[in-house]
Amino acid sequence: MKAVVKTNPGIGAEFLDVENPKPGKRDAIVKVQATSICGTDVHIYEWNEWAQKRIGKDKLPQVLGHEVAGEVCEVGSDVKKIKTGDYVSAETHIYDPRDLTALLGQFHIGERMKILGVDTDGAFAEYIKVPEAVCWINDRAIPPEIASIQEPLGNATYAVLGEDNDVAGRSMAVIGDGPIALLAIGVARTCGATPIFHIGKYDFNMEIGKKMGSDHQLYANKEFDRVGYIRDHTGGYGVDIVLDMAGSPQALEEGFKVLRRGGRFTAFGIPAKSPLMIDYADGIVFKGAQVHGISGRKIFDTWYRVRNLLASGRLDVSPVITHLFTLEDYRKGFDLMMERPRKSAKIVLFPDKDEFERAKERRL
Ligand code: ZN
Repeated sequence: MKAVVKTNPGIGAEFLDVENPKPGKRDAIVKVQATSICGTDVHIYEWNEWAQKRIGKDKLPQVLGHEVAGEVCEVGSDVKKIKTGDYVSAETHIYDPRDLTALLGQFHIGERMKILGVDTDGAFAEYIKVPEAVCWINDRAIPPEIASIQEPLGNATYAVLGEDNDVAGRSMAVIGDGPIALLAIGVARTCGATPIFHIGKYDFNMEIGKKMGSDHQLYANKEFDRVGYIRDHTGGYGVDIVLDMAGSPQALEEGFKVLRRGGRFTAFGIPAKSPLMIDYADGIVFKGAQVHGISGRKIFDTWYRVRNLLASGRLDVSPVITHLFTLEDYRKGFDLMMERPRKSAKIVLFPDKDEFERAKERRL
């Protein structure tokens, strides 16, 4: 089969013929219909410090990608939950049932957890091997290019809803303008958060944020009193919920400042450098703030909610999908993902040319 393979410890990847995956007893083989590019794929493509440490050159060659939608075409002998012909996506956190967190129902943060496309061969290929335990059966009302982005949409949904799902009528600030921040704005709007403040940098993405439902657009890279503005527009209190999806020192500083007393600060952005200074006393302790880290999605509570939001048509994520390419054209996708100022959000790839044509038609 054809696949986008990381072959060398340096920038780039190659489009190669590789052997088709074979299922283990509890695996499914999925024929990939759509697969989307994630920031994690860009890290591996660039072979940055994180990728060098997390994957390492000894594990190469490796097929990239982890966001996927496709059809099950073969299953292992012990597979029970799914069958050939099922239309599935994959939860990328391959949990280990022995972990304490799994026993407690927190499957997404296990100690022995592996990540699809990081610890295993990925989805930028005609076929991918997925453990049955992390296969999620999609609603057929959701087209492949949308079903593929359910994984990052799940991050966004979990970040917005938190542990208590209490967002209706609550004010929210979303900091960052990457695809997950834009998706979060859509989920927040659909679930009733209001008003929604969006702090970002790039016009292209701020515009998408507006389409997804942000009420106020504030530029992080312009001289402006963002904290004062948000306080002024929330009765002087600050927002109920802050989603940090940037992870920069400025985002953290402003985020804790605009959070109201007793509010929730959701941490998703990954700082370039860690540890990072925050105002612990005034930002968290005296404020009685809750801080909630997001690593992945609740398995499978988030998936269930995402499916219902998408299949109903209530949540329209199509503005966040800015480009479609054939898998062969993966380089165009990666170039766009790395371009600054940003000129793209979510980019979806298609191994099959007919599927690519159908997806383009659906966009019209
Ligand atoms: Zn991803």
